[in-house]
Amino acid sequence: MEEPQHSSTQPYLPSDEYRPEPVPEPAPPAWMDGSIRIGIHTSIAGEIASALDLAYNLGANALQIFSASPRMWRRPANGAKGVGPSALRFRARREELKLGPLVIHDNYLINLASPDRILRVRSIQAFHEEIVRAIALGADFLVAHPGSGKGASMSAAISAIADGLRQASRGVNFGNLRILLENTAGQGTSVGSRFAEIKSIIDQCLELPLGVCVDTAHLFAAGHDLRTAEGLEGALAEIEATVGLARVHVIHTNDSKSALGSHLDRHEHIGKGKIGRDAFRRILNHPRLAGRAFILETPIDRPGDDRRNIETLWRLVGITPRRVGAVADGFHIRRSAKRKSRIIRGHRSSAKKSRRRKR
Ligand SMILES: [Zn+2]
Ligand SMILES: [Zn+2]
Repeated sequence: MEEPQHSSTQPYLPSDEYRPEPVPEPAPPAWMDGSIRIGIHTSIAGEIASALDLAYNLGANALQIFSASPRMWRRPANGAKGVGPSALRFRARREELKLGPLVIHDNYLINLASPDRILRVRSIQAFHEEIVRAIALGADFLVAHPGSGKGASMSAAISAIADGLRQASRGVNFGNLRILLENTAGQGTSVGSRFAEIKSIIDQCLELPLGVCVDTAHLFAAGHDLRTAEGLEGALAEIEATVGLARVHVIHTNDSKSALGSHLDRHEHIGKGKIGRDAFRRILNHPRLAGRAFILETPIDRPGDDRRNIETLWRLVGITPRRVGAVADGFHIRRSAKRKSRIIRGHRSSAKKSRRRKR
């Protein structure tokens, strides 16, 4: 066989051209695998990363936390809940457990619409810190109650909230974090029981990554009769006509102790309240709500209530708790069931208190 001849007249092929490696598309987070996401508000008592194991061992694949004590204006510097080195452990553990989305609920002392100047400045500063901590922890969403104008007019309150959000966001690189404004029950002078109010805030902050969190108990207390299919359609129609359903990323999935249109914010176990189990089956399986994270903020009246509410949601989407295990490493869930219930009991009173106050 003849040796190939090297020729100086080899054609220049387009494939010879130097091409820099294309910048790889950022990989989607581990939790974004298309599976349904069911989570619960979990205590951060002790080490903040323990909230992840708590949620995971309860059978959840998503979670919500406070990133610091929800009843204090400032977290203790480098205290047990400081998010410095613990943020790295938190992120690593979350990656291992493939939990997501991670939702952080803001401190409920924050009121960006407060007519009291000192409270308003404190609120803006505290909300800025909420954003910074949420980014440090790698959160996907930061849920905020819009605020309450007390004596001020609704439009003044809305402008104050929008202005507060912009000030708190100064100098922040949001990355993947999105702020979600939560609808309210309409208690007192709270802004956000009507989605048009939330839309007005969003319209005044178009430069910010804002979205919406819908709380089912608040919807019901604000007058949407979720007990019927028509009531749910009515609520979805109002959302679509105002903020748009595409902006809704998280559903706070809570039954309601208080009556339709009562404007009272009282959460109840799924199926045990005034909304009822059938309504939640419709909500969880509604095609227009597919892809949202369903996060429980239900009370813990007896040990195991959190696990039972999570199991109820999985059953409502046609997944038995055992098959949850298959999705999220059930061996781990079953093996640590005993140990976990002790942990929950330990945190029970504080978790309960904090949920009460949050409402
Ligand atoms: Zn809520
Ligand atoms: Zn509530």
